[in-house]
Amino acid sequence: MVENNELRKVGLKVTLPRIKILQMLDTHEQRHMSAEDVYKALMEAGEDVGLATVYRVLTQFETAGLVRRHNFDGGHAVFELADSEHHDHMVCVDNGEIIEFYDAEIEERKKEVVRQQGYELVGHNLVLYVRKKDS
Ligand SMILES: [Zn+2]
Repeated sequence: MVENNELRKVGLKVTLPRIKILQMLDTHEQRHMSAEDVYKALMEAGEDVGLATVYRVLTQFETAGLVRRHNFDGGHAVFELADSEHHDHMVCVDNGEIIEFYDAEIEERKKEVVRQQGYELVGHNLVLYVRKKDS
């Protein structure tokens, strides 16, 4: 199973809760999930994994570099698998919806702005807070 290999690769022992949580993050239509989201989705799928376990495993995954944690304003921390291409996020302030985007010009500008200050970019996290325009 893919999940088993992923876990072993990052040095985590293969346990049932870890497999279930990793599978859920991988297959759920929602790409950014809070611990509560994961917990509820597992419950709906008939999996018996406690919320405390979900929290603990997600933190272990983060430490191992399997998932990225985002702390968007005004919401719970959400997690997404770290295997995706680099992208930035928009968060709707009305319903908390998370929209991913990538803009080559913004990426270039970020590097340039950093270069102008005499630095090189080693990481970044751009979040735009948005609201749907009424049309
Ligand atoms: Zn994302």
